Amino acid sequence: MPLALQERKNRQLPRGVMHANVFRAPSKFGLEEKPIPRAGPGEAVIQVRLTTICGTDLHIVRGEYPVAAGLTIGHEAVGIIHELGPGVTGYEAGQRVLVGAITPCGQCEPCLGGDKSQCGGPLGGWRLGNTIDGVQAEYARIPFAQANLALIPEELSDEAVLLLSDIASTGFSAAESGRIRLGDTVAVFAQGPIGLCATLGARLMGASEIFAIDSDPDRLRVSERFGATKTLLADWEPVAAIRELTHGRGVDVAIEALGQQATFENALRVVRPGGTLSSVGVYSGHLRIPLEAFGAGLADQTIVTTLCPGGKERMHRLMRLVEARRIDLAPLFTHVFPLEEIGTAYELFGSRRDKVLKVAIRVS
Ligand SMILES: [Zn+2]
Ligand SMILES: [Zn+2]
Repeated sequence: MPLALQERKNRQLPRGVMHANVFRAPSKFGLEEKPIPRAGPGEAVIQVRLTTICGTDLHIVRGEYPVAAGLTIGHEAVGIIHELGPGVTGYEAGQRVLVGAITPCGQCEPCLGGDKSQCGGPLGGWRLGNTIDGVQAEYARIPFAQANLALIPEELSDEAVLLLSDIASTGFSAAESGRIRLGDTVAVFAQGPIGLCATLGARLMGASEIFAIDSDPDRLRVSERFGATKTLLADWEPVAAIRELTHGRGVDVAIEALGQQATFENALRVVRPGGTLSSVGVYSGHLRIPLEAFGAGLADQTIVTTLCPGGKERMHRLMRLVEARRIDLAPLFTHVFPLEEIGTAYELFGSRRDKVLKVAIRVS
């Protein structure tokens, strides 16, 4: 047990009280004491074992994405079922579960229509650490538990499955929404954790050439392990390079995994007529479409966007990929911190120093 964790265990908290990472104001957040939540009807409370920090959490603590003061942040967790509320069946306290970043109700019109991430309204499936207390805490209350707790096979470690709750699922969904066919050529713009998982997703879906683009040579090196067949530095005119490498044809599917004008535009410039631009970046402000890359609107291209898919069946399905050793996400965890040091973890993750990709936060 890490020393800090031991110290926390030794320091008696009053009964029913826990530590949670709480947002107060831009640049003002940290561990606070909060009551351990209780499970209401349809809910579960989990004791968190492992969580992580998402790029979205950085936007929150910097004040770029608004959440209420006093909210516990974080939306990716492996935990042990601590309490089940009335009406949750098929689970027992003590079971180890993966909780998705997106927690759909499974009952509303978007959910039953298949758009679970848009549960209840636009982007409404994202509740944890957004509209309700999240999981960077010792305990967390999970809504609609029946639809959102995925039992973890015993042989899989917490680290092996945690990223399936958001980053990996989102990256894979970029490849899935792009409807990559066997032999397709694919370009993936940005090789952060989501872009790397999009690269891996493109490989799993049978792409032939996969061009990975990023400004960071270290990330490009990692992308080769995730399936990139050719890596290109973002500053070295990647559009011209891809046009040349595809003999002027362009790629079948371009994936945008950063959320910026330049990467969106580059992705559009390399998609062949009739091809697909699959976007999972989060944009702010306005997005401009260069008309020559768009055939003035007549190039039969498809632009598709995807929010991380929600629900336990998605997580079960992705866990089977880990079980069958088709994917190994552990290399994405470059650092691990105990919950006590979550401030340091945010600082490191935000700075992108020390070749950091993802930080694991060990809670219990
Ligand atoms: Zn996230
Ligand atoms: Zn719903």
